[in-house]
Amino acid sequence: MKQKNFLFKNSSRYPFLASPHYLSLAGSSDADKDPILMQVMPSRKELRSNKKMTADPQDEKRFMPLLKLVRRYADRAVILCSNECFIHCRFCFRKRLWAKENKKWKISDEEFAKIAGYLRKNSEIKEAILSGGDPLTLADRELRRLISALDNIESIDVIRIGSRVLTANPARLTNKVLDIFSSSRKIWFMSHFNHYLEISSETEKKIRNLNAAGVLILNHTVLLKGINDSPEVLEKLFRKLVALKVKPHYLFHADPVDGNAHFMTGVDRALEIITSLRRKLSSLAMPVFAIDLPGGGGKITLSPDMRRGERHFEDVDGRIVEYF
Ligand SMILES: *Cc1c(COP(=O)(O)O)cnc(C)c1O
Ligand code: SF4
Repeated sequence: MKQKNFLFKNSSRYPFLASPHYLSLAGSSDADKDPILMQVMPSRKELRSNKKMTADPQDEKRFMPLLKLVRRYADRAVILCSNECFIHCRFCFRKRLWAKENKKWKISDEEFAKIAGYLRKNSEIKEAILSGGDPLTLADRELRRLISALDNIESIDVIRIGSRVLTANPARLTNKVLDIFSSSRKIWFMSHFNHYLEISSETEKKIRNLNAAGVLILNHTVLLKGINDSPEVLEKLFRKLVALKVKPHYLFHADPVDGNAHFMTGVDRALEIITSLRRKLSSLAMPVFAIDLPGGGGKITLSPDMRRGERHFEDVDGRIVEYF
């Protein structure tokens, strides 16, 4: 009874959302242990208060020169296309966008026209990152319009599409969407897989379709306590991705967002996992570990320090070797 009340209360701030496809990936019905369910089921642990956790730790609001545009780096800008997703990941660092008090929105023609003008004027911006929410929640027509407009801006070299559609709703990657993607030469696809169970046979098929359409796929993974914070789970995930020609790109520490404390492993544990992975995996399969500093500090990458004195280093088998 109590649990029910809690779920209702919690859902009233950050509503539950999961697609049938995503839920079908779960191997059990234990929402406290299953690595799929844990990512989408509201949990009592989210209510633990922690003053260091905020709704917008990256302070993105301070870095928005226009509505729906986040620019924290000189040469890259993020376009917030929509606040809708196919699933609501409990640990999402932008969950403030889909908090219940917000209505659903999609970027409007006027908003996008202003952004396009800004990108034209600020020609040092080379990469436009379509994010949200999930940009694949846009209708085909809107998606085509955005991509062709960005394609026509000469100073934009790269259009990145950040989306969880491959695991959350692979059926959305229709031939029409693949056509839209292959109509542009600028597209890179940033997928988001956290566990090997998220790669179904349907997902594999869509990855092959994207490859065939000439779209490079890089993957982001969020390190999540109890879900994928083990070298074994991550090794299996990264090997599976590389076999599908998806490059593991970033492994992120979970962000200090409201209700996220129970997902955070700590940076020390993360570096231990990275060290252990690097002993086994090729550079192709190894992502870079990064944390996104609060207050708009940006992403910084960390790697284990293998120095053991001025001229001594620890080798891949854990032995100390001198290097001149
Ligand atoms: C992550 C992010 C980027 C992209 O950073 P990369 O390190 O190039 O992947 C750009 N802008 C914002 C606001 C971001 O959060
Ligand atoms: S799909 Fe991405 S934007 Fe949407 S809730 Fe999950 S992590 Fe957040």
